[in-house]
Amino acid sequence: MLSDENRIFTNLYGFQSSSLESARKRGAWDETKSVIEKGAEWIIEEMKASGLRGRGGAGFPTGLKWSFMPKAGEGDGRPHYLIVNADESEPGTCKDREILRHDPHLLLEGCLFASFTISAHVCYIYIRGEFIREREALQRAIDESYEARLLGKNSVTGWDLDCYVHHGAGAYICGEETALLESLEGRKGLPRMKPPYPANVGLYGCPTTINNVESIAVVPSILRRGANWFSSLGRVKNSTGSKLFSISGHVNKPCTVEEEMGIVLRELIEKHAGGIRGGWDNLLAVIPGGVSVPCLPAKECWDLSMDFDTLREKHSGLGTAAVMVMDKSTDIVNAIARVSYFYKHESCGQCTPCREGTGWMWRVLKRMVRGEAHEHEIDMLLNVTKEVEGNTICALGDAAAWPVQGLIRHFSHEIRRRIKEYAANPKAEGAVSFPVKR
Ligand code: SF4
Repeated sequence: MLSDENRIFTNLYGFQSSSLESARKRGAWDETKSVIEKGAEWIIEEMKASGLRGRGGAGFPTGLKWSFMPKAGEGDGRPHYLIVNADESEPGTCKDREILRHDPHLLLEGCLFASFTISAHVCYIYIRGEFIREREALQRAIDESYEARLLGKNSVTGWDLDCYVHHGAGAYICGEETALLESLEGRKGLPRMKPPYPANVGLYGCPTTINNVESIAVVPSILRRGANWFSSLGRVKNSTGSKLFSISGHVNKPCTVEEEMGIVLRELIEKHAGGIRGGWDNLLAVIPGGVSVPCLPAKECWDLSMDFDTLREKHSGLGTAAVMVMDKSTDIVNAIARVSYFYKHESCGQCTPCREGTGWMWRVLKRMVRGEAHEHEIDMLLNVTKEVEGNTICALGDAAAWPVQGLIRHFSHEIRRRIKEYAANPKAEGAVSFPVKR
């Protein structure tokens, strides 16, 4: 269990004020200038040594990402930009909003370090449309920082940075980094083809780094306390440090909590979420990283290590570490059909496999909920997910395909049972509890 002295987010639940004065008492904006004076190269090496991997879902190493930006003095004169992705929209995920609401100064100080490292004097924080209170808290913190000359021109920190909050309009796809860029430039949030990558051609055609809120908010603690401290946290290789886990669903006390990477799922749920409703024998499945990752059945969850590599080996993923627990009262086929409906709804429609495939998967699953299908359609559905996966412009196609693959991998027997029951008695009532458009 993460000890209190190793905790980064000490005001996660908002028991203290989010003001600058209060944040300073918790250690924010302390020795900022002396860290800046160590130079961008030192910061990049320190970030690489810390082993921090992006907390937005993809898990790309943060220090490495920063190193892709043209170095100071080596660019072609175009301005550089830092963008913070605060468009937290992955169902089940509720961690960045806690940082924005209760500890925004950690994020702002992280923005300053990141901007200095990539030679950016402008930072945009793209915040989800529904986050009204979060935007207010963040703007308050920005105003305080300008007043204290921590941000703005002639900054006391030694690096001038202007920070702007941009309020999105609520589209899930704008969390995809290139769709976010399009949206920020005032266009529809349609993902761009890559390459070119944002580090070369990003916002307004300029070198741009895009990081998740949590990834940036942990930076000040890493730089102050050292890479060795951060990398000593975490129980497994390739997954260092602490992480915010959002635990929801059929647990007794749903919560967001900071814990060490690699914590065992059982310990995470028992210690922080009050255990599973009805006990572990009542567990059906867990989605370990937000709805875009495949679910895992109960028998794989007991001693599951919550880290990038283990979850990938299990054909799932850590994603945003949004743990969604489903007990045996869950209609798992219906639940995944509902996830499919979400992706169909959020597809931007640019590429055919995603536009057509998401709707196709949902329509088939909708029938499978009732058992109104043929057994050979299970394989056909799996084939369609494989045709969508990896064949689209952005990762939404994969995100739509993976939950269906997880369902078929672990619960195809449940689909078969329904098909048999329906075939035996087609007039029996089926259960469909999500919006159905025929
Ligand atoms: Fe749009 Fe889907 Fe293609 Fe992404 S994968 S660009 S959301 S159609």
